[in-house]
Amino acid sequence: MAIRRIYETPDPVLRQISKPVETFDDELRTLVADMFETMYDAPGIGLAAVQVGEPIRLLVIDLQEPENPEDPESPNVRDPKVFINPEVLWHSDTEVPYTEGCLSVPEQYAEVMRPDRIQARWQDEKGKAYEEEIEGLLAVCLQHEMDHLNGVLFIDHLSRLKRDMVLKKLAKWRKEQQKKAA
Ligand code: ZN
Repeated sequence: MAIRRIYETPDPVLRQISKPVETFDDELRTLVADMFETMYDAPGIGLAAVQVGEPIRLLVIDLQEPENPEDPESPNVRDPKVFINPEVLWHSDTEVPYTEGCLSVPEQYAEVMRPDRIQARWQDEKGKAYEEEIEGLLAVCLQHEMDHLNGVLFIDHLSRLKRDMVLKKLAKWRKEQQKKAA
């Protein structure tokens, strides 16, 4: 396993339309393992293959929620999920706000509205097909990651004013990081 480089906005790599996965081989499963390692290291709760420079329709999610939802101090539990060739078959009309972040837009957060429930279809790393209704944070995260497969970032959902603000803050943050590194 290896930690891969995460591409960041405005890298054009992130704007590619990812291609369907057709071969479920060891190479694919190595990429899946690398993506989990990269995501946990970052750390983040979701990562699309295109973010590590592989424009194929694959994404990984692990919400790493506390063992006891009543007690946020309880240890987080790993629950790795792989979504290959995911599709939304249906989504609710009700949209809910969630403050999103993205490993390709580091340290920046903004509220995005998305349907609160979706019916999704996908495959796992062995090619097995699933269909399920998904809600809550997993639905938010899956929709965010699926956007990546179409070259879309969460900041694209913001008004121009808000997006410019986020990008300005990102530029400032990068400058500070550079100063720290110098
Ligand atoms: Zn993202």
